[in-house]
Amino acid sequence: MASLKWWDFHCHPNEWGNVEKALSAARALGIQGVCANGTNALSNGQCRSLSHAFKGLVFFGLGMHPQELIQWSRLEQDHAWEGVQAHAADAHFFGETGLDYKYGVTVEQRECQAKWFACMTALARAHDKAVEVHSRQARSQTLEFLQRARAEKVLLHWFYGDKKMIRVIVENGWKASVGPSVLTQPHIQSFARALPVENLCLETDGPVSFDGVPADSTWIPRVAEKVCALKGLSMEELSHVQQRIARDYFGFKP
Ligand SMILES: [Zn+2]
Repeated sequence: MASLKWWDFHCHPNEWGNVEKALSAARALGIQGVCANGTNALSNGQCRSLSHAFKGLVFFGLGMHPQELIQWSRLEQDHAWEGVQAHAADAHFFGETGLDYKYGVTVEQRECQAKWFACMTALARAHDKAVEVHSRQARSQTLEFLQRARAEKVLLHWFYGDKKMIRVIVENGWKASVGPSVLTQPHIQSFARALPVENLCLETDGPVSFDGVPADSTWIPRVAEKVCALKGLSMEELSHVQQRIARDYFGFKP
């Protein structure tokens, strides 16, 4: 198993209990890289520090999470954005960003999410880097937004969708990731089955809990096995695709 290389394309290791232990356990299972998504000024700094401490293993993104930012003052939003811009050249990608219509319910909140999402995708494009995108209860709106924004490198994290949505992803050459929910949830399983493997990434979103257990990157091989079973792929094939996406699409150098 450990001879196969994997990536956790979306997680929040700054929120893990014992990050050092979890990362070395993950590395022992063949995890080659972990995408640490910042969500606010504080966690952006934490993810950046982690990528320095675990160089070549932790790759960091600078983000403004749509669920969080609607609770910030205008001043706090501007402050977070200044931090993102200040370290944009060093960031490996941008995220977590996107739309969240579960928590963003008013017109003002949704406009606010869209404003910072637009800033983030423009910055990512200017730096030729990827955006990792959240789309809770706003999947079609998020796809339309990204098309209008002419976003180039996109990872739709914890995504699922119908044939039409898959066509948009494929036509744009974007990626979408599935995580531990693919182990149990039929709608995620059918999405993983239908999405071409070239467009599919694995993630954990750790420390999000599944069945009451907080996830981290050590869960990736289990997610990989399930995806392979669903798609009739060998672990070697899936592992190669994951490495190719990390290297050629994200431009990561593990
Ligand atoms: Zn996340």
